[in-house]
Amino acid sequence: MTSIDILLKRNEELGNVVPGDRSSPKPSLQVAILTCMDARVRVFEIFGLIQGEAHVLRNGGGVVTDDMIRSLALSQRKLGTREVLIVQHTNCGLSMVTEDDFKDELEQATGLRPTWSVEAFRKVEDSVRVSIERVRRSDFLAHTDNVRGFVYDVKTGSLTEVE
Ligand SMILES: [Zn+2]
Repeated sequence: MTSIDILLKRNEELGNVVPGDRSSPKPSLQVAILTCMDARVRVFEIFGLIQGEAHVLRNGGGVVTDDMIRSLALSQRKLGTREVLIVQHTNCGLSMVTEDDFKDELEQATGLRPTWSVEAFRKVEDSVRVSIERVRRSDFLAHTDNVRGFVYDVKTGSLTEVE
């Protein structure tokens, strides 16, 4: 049995138990939350989110990349979100690799060097600041005033704002 099989079985057993408003694709809190794919960042639980309230965009690191800007542009211009909450976290995998080492590894394994940035960082606060700036400076976004960034401590569960 694969992990996907396990998840599908769970879904069948759970049935339709998720509360919330399903009437509109527009998030009722008008907010987009950007965070890391890390399995310890349980974003729905952390913010008590229910269905229909927020867009949740995730990638490795929770960093603002061109593809995050693509999703945010859709989120803001077509689906009415006006605020951006960025949540990166302690003990992130991106703080354990370096840009060049990971690209070298991929190049050695595949013969191709990626054109994209790994977005590796040493200090998570610095990475949060860069992501905030990328949102603020993006001409594609309609709302860049209400953007705030935080570090989530995966051990304690605390959120600390990055100024
Ligand atoms: Zn992470």
